[in-house]
Amino acid sequence: MSDQACASCADKGKCDEDKRLNQALCRIKRKIVVLSGKGGVGKSTVAANLAAGLALEGKKVGLLDVDVHGPSIPRLLKLTGIQPGLEGDMMLPVEWSWNLKVMSLGFLLPDSDEAVIWRGPVKGGVIKQFLENVAWGDLDYLVVDCPPGTGDEPLSVMQLLGTKAQALIVTSPQAVALDDVRRSVTFCRRLDNPVLGIVENMSGFVCPDCGATHNIFSTGGGEVLAKDMGVPFLGRIPIDPSVASSGDAGEAFLAIKGQSPSALAFKDVVAKVMAMAPADQADAPAPAAPATDRPAPGGESSKLTVAVPTVGGILCAHFGHCETFAVMDVDTATGNILATRHETPPPHEPGVIPAWIADLGVDVVIAGGMGQKARDLFEEKGVKVVVGAMAAAPEAIVADYLRGSLTTGPNTCDH
Ligand code: ADP
Repeated sequence: MSDQACASCADKGKCDEDKRLNQALCRIKRKIVVLSGKGGVGKSTVAANLAAGLALEGKKVGLLDVDVHGPSIPRLLKLTGIQPGLEGDMMLPVEWSWNLKVMSLGFLLPDSDEAVIWRGPVKGGVIKQFLENVAWGDLDYLVVDCPPGTGDEPLSVMQLLGTKAQALIVTSPQAVALDDVRRSVTFCRRLDNPVLGIVENMSGFVCPDCGATHNIFSTGGGEVLAKDMGVPFLGRIPIDPSVASSGDAGEAFLAIKGQSPSALAFKDVVAKVMAMAPADQADAPAPAAPATDRPAPGGESSKLTVAVPTVGGILCAHFGHCETFAVMDVDTATGNILATRHETPPPHEPGVIPAWIADLGVDVVIAGGMGQKARDLFEEKGVKVVVGAMAAAPEAIVADYLRGSLTTGPNTCDH
């Protein structure tokens, strides 16, 4: 904010405060907010290793732990019991190394067993102070470890950091965790914050005896979801007992040392983050996902073609009896509908419409109801089917689908 704006400002106190925050943020090139839909998926572990990995690459890094209810960064980096220093009215972040500065509420609580009972606005105030009253100085990257979910802390962080802050979402591969990731992606899209990518942690198990990776749970769910939602996939990190034991020992950085599969996986994520969010091009928009990570059923772009059966301009409950199909080309990276055309289907006979839709180059059909045979035919032709959508304008349905917030009910036709 310019001084001229301050001079004419009706709320000088607020304006000065904003100025102070902006001055602090201007010195930070890239802000990466680490989110997860659920607790226990390894978000803090990934945040700590990402920050340590970037620092080991010679970047100037800040790591801010805003999990006011369970700050775990001091423990993960063996910094418990350390008190941040003061210089005037500024707090000095704790230095893990010359180029990794850390701040956490955990440093300020007199007793780590103490429960913090704060309401949203208080948490927001504390987070703001962590940004503007901590002497971060010039940073290439600020990595912010948020509590799980999309509650007060992530919201405050995003709002304070602004729309250039990029989210890195950590998930485990199970479907139940993946559902929560959709909410995290939607949360970022609503706030206009780009999603840097998804990391699938605890993906396969590295056997300490033979060193081989075994898939205990299903893997790859994070990557499928990333494609589905049009966000980059940053990689998989296996379950590795040494990740847990080094974290317990406060030596999270060990996880990125050596040549173990987990160490290499962490290094790969760090390399992707540096490539996709280069600190020396902080003013450039976040580059789109690499072609291989894009939702590209038909090619290299993030273009997806979605068809919705309509009658009277809104979704028709049974796709076989619709008047037209609204066929929309959408850009999954931006969520924009690029073009809509209305196609009249051939007469309803078994098997005809799936083949006709596939020939139109459609990737996804969103319907109210559809029989199993038709669904199987679509599947065979590589067309994804979503059923149970409610009657609404096709554009609204597609917009909700792209945001991950499409509400679906029962399949209204399941013969
Ligand atoms: P969150 O921040 O999502 O709650 P944490 O980072 O605190 O999760 O991790 C939860 C537990 O899982 C910790 O004990 C941590 O050491 C362990 N953990 C995280 N990632 C891995 C991994 N890839 N392999 C083995 N243990 C892991």
